[in-house]
Amino acid sequence: ISAVELTQLYLERIERHNTTLNAYISTDPERSLSQARAADARIAAGEAGPLTGIPLAHKDIFCAEGWLTTCASKMLSNFVSPYDAHVVERLDAAGMVTLGKCNMDEFAMGSSNETSWYGPVKNPWDMRCVPGGSSGGSAAAVAARLAPIATGTDTGGSIRQPAAFCGLTGLKPTYGVVSRYGMIAFASSLDQAGPMGRSAEDCALLLNAMAGFDERDSTSLDRPAEDYLRELDKPLAGRRIGLPREFFAAGMDDDVRAAVEAALAEYRKLGAVTVDISLPNTALSVPAYYVLAPAEASSNLSRFDGVRYGHRAAEYGDLNDMYARTRAEGFGDEVKRRILIGTYVLSHGYYDAYYLQAQKIRRLIARDFEEAFKHCDLIAGPTTPGAAFPFGAKSQDPVQMYLSDIYTISTNLAGLPGMSLPCGLAAGATADKPLPVGLQLIGNYFDEARMLNVAHQYQ
Ligand code: GLN
Repeated sequence: ISAVELTQLYLERIERHNTTLNAYISTDPERSLSQARAADARIAAGEAGPLTGIPLAHKDIFCAEGWLTTCASKMLSNFVSPYDAHVVERLDAAGMVTLGKCNMDEFAMGSSNETSWYGPVKNPWDMRCVPGGSSGGSAAAVAARLAPIATGTDTGGSIRQPAAFCGLTGLKPTYGVVSRYGMIAFASSLDQAGPMGRSAEDCALLLNAMAGFDERDSTSLDRPAEDYLRELDKPLAGRRIGLPREFFAAGMDDDVRAAVEAALAEYRKLGAVTVDISLPNTALSVPAYYVLAPAEASSNLSRFDGVRYGHRAAEYGDLNDMYARTRAEGFGDEVKRRILIGTYVLSHGYYDAYYLQAQKIRRLIARDFEEAFKHCDLIAGPTTPGAAFPFGAKSQDPVQMYLSDIYTISTNLAGLPGMSLPCGLAAGATADKPLPVGLQLIGNYFDEARMLNVAHQYQ
């Protein structure tokens, strides 16, 4: 099959199913096909790499030259990017074909895709349920075979949670492994891009092309290139898998627990040993995150002022009125909530009480992991406390929504790599359709290859 034929197949599926799923915000079939033709020429010339001619979908948080890049916000609903994100640049250079830009929670703030200005994405497993968020469009696109693989970003779980809800494998690399250049910033010290696909092997292939030093991101790490496929086939005999007591305490649904336990039993059969560990500050991760992430967001989002690009109010008085109206019209409720919280915790008099305390907790959480990795090679547990939930179930109660990230957020606070892989089915919110359950793996810094190995051996 040629790259053009493959691309056509996916474009037809998008055409047929996207109106229902709402996984893509924009597509540009002509552009995709011209990239596919170029890939076929490369293949004919014997210059193909492993990803040449493979279609993919980008989360709409990545700037791509000439593409509408909205971050699922009204604020950027008219923004055509004049440049490529580093990730887009690299995947283009590998010969991949961009199928389109995927729906997401507005500015990546959310866990259900319900905050998108373009409307919610449906979970292909059960259309009454959310696909997870914020990379919900990427997840739904891959799960419904509207793309073979996709990019996502993860600030507090946004790759792993939707991967879990849609039955996919998704990986958030160690902070600094993938450049954030051209990736619209939410909370810069936590944001990290990664692959979302059908298997650990697919994720390793995509990560090979995404990772690498970029001088335009000051937090990009200058390390020798790695082949993330290299350890996939290693036997697991003797691997120590740590099970954090706090992840297995009350709070997890019974069918999630059953699926995770079954996966762990499988790992023991494969020769791994499980050891009990503790991450004592786990309960503080959500409160610390919801001080730090909004603080950074309030600063990052100050650039959307209606002056240089994006939405601008049609009618206004003076300059301040223009800012105020533009931002009132352009941002959705969740984004405004975060800006308000962020501005508050950074303000004079409250900084010490909130922001500084949260920074200290962040350090304690990183130390918990440091200690834990003295006793194990890798950590395992659930990705989420429950499977995908029905639309509206949590959208009126932000705290309930925030708590769905309880197992994923500490990884970002520590800067560690984490991934989710499918490990069975749960009864599902409506009981008549089963929903996937995710097993989460957390590695030590730069242990992506080892995590992928452990995931691959199970798959
Ligand atoms: N759900 C979390 C939030 O709303 C994480 C989002 C993300 O990782 N981008 O902030």
